[in-house]
Amino acid sequence: FDDRDGYIWFDGKLVDWRDAGIHVLTHGLHYGSCVFEGERVYNGKAFKLREHSQRLIESGRILGFEIPYTAEQLDEATMATVKANNIVDGYVRPVAWRGSEMMGVAAQSSRIRVAIATWTWPSYWSPEARMKGIRLNMAQWKRPHPETAPTQSKAAGLYMIATMNKHKAESDGYEDSLMLDWRGQVAEATGANIFFVFGNELHTPTPDCFLNGITRQTVIDLAKKRGIKLVERAILPEEMAKATECFLTGTAAEVTPVREIGTFSFTPGEITKQLISDYDSLVRL
Ligand code: PMP
Repeated sequence: FDDRDGYIWFDGKLVDWRDAGIHVLTHGLHYGSCVFEGERVYNGKAFKLREHSQRLIESGRILGFEIPYTAEQLDEATMATVKANNIVDGYVRPVAWRGSEMMGVAAQSSRIRVAIATWTWPSYWSPEARMKGIRLNMAQWKRPHPETAPTQSKAAGLYMIATMNKHKAESDGYEDSLMLDWRGQVAEATGANIFFVFGNELHTPTPDCFLNGITRQTVIDLAKKRGIKLVERAILPEEMAKATECFLTGTAAEVTPVREIGTFSFTPGEITKQLISDYDSLVRL
C-alpha cells in the first residue's frame, strides 16, 4: 500500500505518498500508543466528518495523549487531502501516534504525530447482491472488560484481537467473525456493530465494552424515524436462534446483512432492506 501515487497529509502538510515514512523506533509501533479513524467519502464529501475528527481526539485522550490539532483543523486537513487526491467515492484513514523520540514504556514527551491518507473505494455492492448476506464464524478471542482495555478508544492495539479473529474466519471460509465480550454476551464483528430483528423490533447490544459506532448511532436514528422499536440490551448468543434478521453497521460495512453466524441462520428481510435504503440515501444527501 506504500508504493503508489498520491498525497498524504503528514504533520500539517501534504507530502508525496511514497515519502510518508516513520522511524522503526516509533513508540506507537512498539507499545501500541496509536489511534485511528475510518471515514467514507461519498460524492467528494466525508460522511459525519466532524464526529470522526472528534472521536480521533477523544481516542487519543483516553490513551493519555493530546492530538495537536482541533477537530476543525482535522476536518480541514481531511478535506484538503480528499481534494488533493481527487477522491469522489473513497475511504479516509486518519492516524495519530507517539513518535520515536523516546524508547521505553514511558514516553511522556514524545511527539504526537498525525497523518491522513485517502484512497478511492467505491461502494460497489448493488442492493440486490448485498441482500444475500454474509457469513460469520464465532470468534475465538473475546472483547475485553472495559477495566482491562481502553474499549471506548479506537486504539490500534485493540485491533490485534480483531485481526486474529478475522484471519481465522477467512481461513475457515467465512467473511467475518462475531466476538462475544468477556461475559459471554454478543458484542460486535471485527470492524462493525451488530443488530438483530426479534419480532418487529430491532435489538442491538449495549456498547459498554466496544465502540458505539457512528454508523450504529445513525442507523438507530433511521430506525426510529421509520417507527421501528429499538432496544439496546445485553444479548446472549443462544438468543440468536430466535432472531429473524441480522445485519452489521460500520463506516466500511455500511449496513451489511448477515445470513449465518456459526450454527444460526437469518434471512435478510424487510427491516434490513429499509435501513440499507435509508442509509444509502442519507450518505448521498
Ligand atoms: N466496531 C469496531 C471494532 C470498528 O472497527 C468499527 C469501525 N470503526 C465499528 C465498530 C463501527 O464504527 P463506525 O460506525 O463509527 O465506523
